[in-house]
Amino acid sequence: MTKITVTFLGTTASIPTAKRNHPAVHLNYQSYMEHNFLFDCGEGTQRQIFSSNVNFMRIDHIFITHWHADHFAGLFGLLETMGLEKRKEPLHIYAPEADKFLERLLNLGYSSKPYEVIQHNVEFEGNEIQILLNESEFQIVSIPVKHGVPAVAYGFFEKNRLKVDKEQIEKLKLPSQGPFYKKIKEKGSATFKGREYKLEELCFVEKGKHVVYSGDTMPCRNIVKISKDADLLIHDSTYFEDMKRKHSSLDQVIQLVKDADAKQVILTHISRRYQNEKELEDKIKPLKNFRIAKDFMEVVI
Ligand SMILES: [Zn+2]
Repeated sequence: MTKITVTFLGTTASIPTAKRNHPAVHLNYQSYMEHNFLFDCGEGTQRQIFSSNVNFMRIDHIFITHWHADHFAGLFGLLETMGLEKRKEPLHIYAPEADKFLERLLNLGYSSKPYEVIQHNVEFEGNEIQILLNESEFQIVSIPVKHGVPAVAYGFFEKNRLKVDKEQIEKLKLPSQGPFYKKIKEKGSATFKGREYKLEELCFVEKGKHVVYSGDTMPCRNIVKISKDADLLIHDSTYFEDMKRKHSSLDQVIQLVKDADAKQVILTHISRRYQNEKELEDKIKPLKNFRIAKDFMEVVI
């Protein structure tokens, strides 16, 4: 079984509060290998990391949704600390207009990094899903969103797996492993002791897990597109009433989730005007698949 652990390192909007740091979401994926990804890196993210279960030296890919300071101001310090801890492996950073902003950030002050930073420009216009990372077990993709400045959402898509139906092979008295299964998965059929077996007789598709992080955005069709049937949608809910600003409100997210059919929704980027946690919890009580993010919250999928 594979496991995804999402850790909320920062959940406020624009201005931090005593309880909420600037935005950052860490995703740990465990299968045959372990992978660690950071989405956004607001000011103070490295201190949040040190207070969490996240190991920052294992992060090889950082994804910035847009260049508003609350989403990237922690990058400078985090990159410095990685250098001081003698990181050697290259670090990949993805963002809309990465070349324009990263170049400036990497040349601030008298620092020299003992590792390479590889920049990736992410498309921020149109309605297409862009594949940024394509590994044997998963993909990380992006899609443009609506925030008044170049901004994107990111999605982690685990690939579907073909699994052998153990009950069925016991019933048919077939061996539990061997080259027969490699052949049937590759060719769609295979022969054992003179009988031909079809793939659909012995195998089934296990659907891959799917997590989406909206970054800052007004509700938009692209979010519906990227989060269709998601196991977890982490969405901007800066406001709990409609403010008509370049973010989303609770009602708008509820409406969007009806179309997207996400199984679980976590609202984040919460404005500091909402200091009373109990009041917020009461607002989402009738919504069974909704939760409000808190700093250091961990969600396992
Ligand atoms: Zn923003």
